Amino acid sequence: MTTVRTALRRLASATEPADPEVLDALRHRWQELPQHARNDAQMLGRRSVGCEGTHGVFPRCNLACAPCYHSRDTNRVRIDGRHTVAEVDRQMAYLRARRGPRAFAQLIGGEVTLLDPDDHAAALQAMRRHGREPMSMSHGDFDYGYLERLAVGPDGRRRFAHLSFAGHFDTTMFGRRGAERVEHERDLHRFRRRFCQLFQRLEREHGVGHYLAHNMTVTPGNVGQLAEVVRACRQMGFRMFSFQPAAFVGDERRWKSDYRELTAEAVWAEVERGAGARLPWRALQMGDARCNRVAWGLQVGDRWVPVLDDHDPADLRARDAFLAWFAGVDFGAPRPLLAVRLLRVTARHPRVVPLGLRWAGRLVRRAGVVALARHGARPLTFVMHSFMDAADVGPAWELTRRGETSDDPRVRATQERLAACAYTMAHPETGALVPACVQHAVLDPQENAALRRLLPLIPTAGRAPDGPPAAASRPPASR
Ligand code: SF4
Repeated sequence: MTTVRTALRRLASATEPADPEVLDALRHRWQELPQHARNDAQMLGRRSVGCEGTHGVFPRCNLACAPCYHSRDTNRVRIDGRHTVAEVDRQMAYLRARRGPRAFAQLIGGEVTLLDPDDHAAALQAMRRHGREPMSMSHGDFDYGYLERLAVGPDGRRRFAHLSFAGHFDTTMFGRRGAERVEHERDLHRFRRRFCQLFQRLEREHGVGHYLAHNMTVTPGNVGQLAEVVRACRQMGFRMFSFQPAAFVGDERRWKSDYRELTAEAVWAEVERGAGARLPWRALQMGDARCNRVAWGLQVGDRWVPVLDDHDPADLRARDAFLAWFAGVDFGAPRPLLAVRLLRVTARHPRVVPLGLRWAGRLVRRAGVVALARHGARPLTFVMHSFMDAADVGPAWELTRRGETSDDPRVRATQERLAACAYTMAHPETGALVPACVQHAVLDPQENAALRRLLPLIPTAGRAPDGPPAAASRPPASR
């Protein structure tokens, strides 16, 4: 009898809609948010603890970008697989302890494919061990052989069922093989297509699935070409298009135009022109609206259709119910387990059924039944992430650390954004979790100077070389 009771208790606990530790982490995250970010659309603290990223793990890159958010020492640091894996493991363990058992995390530094494929794989495995869903951030200038060696171990066995990569392609980058310097974004379309094809081949040959994001730095020079990029590339296989308006951060030798000319509205309007639709980003928010805009939707043939329309009160009611009732539910769980968990959510909140059915009906009507039957639907997300200028982040962070608030509206706005940051990096040695803006604007220069001594390009008896060899003198790629 006791055995039966114990088994039932275990079953009940395993099929709880949400892991109590995840719920705790979400509650904690919500409490940390500043008041202005605790709005109905906020995902942080309700669906997500935010995105995470690595730092100081492989700073070097073999392309050159203008602008580049890395500090000038990055290309004087040797790529060292042992250092990378150990540091990734340490940072992710700390994030696991502070931010709970599940999060999306970027394996990011300079260029990830300069790592040996085995070290790259070990870093991804370390991230997964700590409950992080990793995405490798690359300039996309690598060959199929590299990808295959990453996905399939030396023993011939598949190491991953699924890989997530972000490929960065834009005209601010120099040195890509076959496109050393390009004037127009359309000249990069064949590289964007090739990038997707590498993963499609990997799936065909080894059954490794993929999620691909397209990253692009936006400057006054290429903003007018965004629409064409979206139009030409949205059927290639990318699941996300992410745009990063350039900021004055990183290596100042690479600042080439007045990036403050760019407004969020102008950039977003261009993306909308390419998508051929209004991109409703106010329905769901990650952190501060001045940092992030996200529009989730479906590509149905030539049309993009939003999953939630922020002008439709019925959609907003569905969103409210989803955020309230599905907090912490892991939609990536094995399907039978997920089905039982969803049934338990439904039993607790029966109104989810009519709300969900009406929302699905609106979505189908928006997409069109005939179009859906003819083309099917592919998830496609548009994102804009606007880093801040180092000149604002430095003083804002200093005041925040002292527990003070600036009287200067620009610095105060920066402090507000940092307080609601959705993109975090970990410093286990000091116990700090810092916004990526702070990492790049404030901490990277000292960190990379120290790494240059720890991992000199030409190993010497503990002494850093005076400068990089010619091949390493190109500045690193921007993300
Ligand atoms: S990294 Fe900077 S721009 Fe990005 S969410 Fe954090 S504070 Fe905002």
